[in-house]
Amino acid sequence: MNLKLAIQKSGRLHEDSIKLLNDCGIAVKSGGNHLRAVAENFPLEVYFLRDDDIPQYVEDGVAHLGIVGENVLYEKGKHVEIIEALGFGKCRLSIAVKKTDAYNSSDFLQGKRIATSYPVLTQKFLDKNQVTAEIHEISGSVELAPGIGLADAVCDLVSSGSTLFMNGLQEVQTILKSQAVLVRQLELDPELEKIVSQLLFRIRSVKKAKNNKYILLNAPNESLPKIFELLPGMKSPTVLPLADEGWSSVHSVLNEDEFWEKIEALKNAGAQGILVVPIEKMIM
Ligand code: ATP
Ligand code: MG
Repeated sequence: MNLKLAIQKSGRLHEDSIKLLNDCGIAVKSGGNHLRAVAENFPLEVYFLRDDDIPQYVEDGVAHLGIVGENVLYEKGKHVEIIEALGFGKCRLSIAVKKTDAYNSSDFLQGKRIATSYPVLTQKFLDKNQVTAEIHEISGSVELAPGIGLADAVCDLVSSGSTLFMNGLQEVQTILKSQAVLVRQLELDPELEKIVSQLLFRIRSVKKAKNNKYILLNAPNESLPKIFELLPGMKSPTVLPLADEGWSSVHSVLNEDEFWEKIEALKNAGAQGILVVPIEKMIM
């Protein structure tokens, strides 16, 4: 029995989705013109679909799992469960107005026309702020709408903001922060549940490895107690004697978030020749 996973056919989430599977040791060839690919070494079939359709397919069980942006997921409001945030496809859904407009609060939008591909999320934002505005749903190139007189404002996806800028718009308020997530059908056959757990275990190991670095350093033995305090590692750090009398080599794992801070502290504690290496997988 194969687990069926729906991913975007082409677009911003496609490559990162394939890469995640490959990093998990699952060999899937990228879409091309195919609708479906079967993994060579894991009980998985991958379906290549428009991202808008993925929540529905997962709700219906045509696919058991899907990778989709939170923005699309919340807009569609389908009954699926998020099982893991994937850390790619990061963007935000924001209100933008003309550069020349002075926007102080959502009251600015009162009675205005807003162009968006996200009518549900936009309406929720307006309701929450007790603003009445006209929503014009358009499916693409939303940023052009104010320039051609179709709308006064937009509610659109932004990552760098350069598309808005080039179209004479300014981002004024974020209504949702989004990233790609792995979603699942609510009810699954026990055999499929097992494959989901295996896949999730691999995804988490890959994610953990990305957030951690392997560190090697040399230090005089009298500095070791201080250095051990700074290095939590997966257990205690590994210590090997150097050929130089009175010196040791210390190996450990550092979290990305506290990385620079720790490096600084390690140097101050007497560490030298610090090497930092990426980790491919981290099995806890
Ligand atoms: P499809 O043909 O599958 O419907 P699409 O044109 O709707 O594709 P893309 O533009 O490829 O979608 O974006 C897919 C997802 O990537 C978005 O829904 C969002 O979650 C994420 N994303 C990340 N950064 C951005 C960005 N700057 N603009 C748009 N989407 C982004
Ligand atoms: Mg789409």
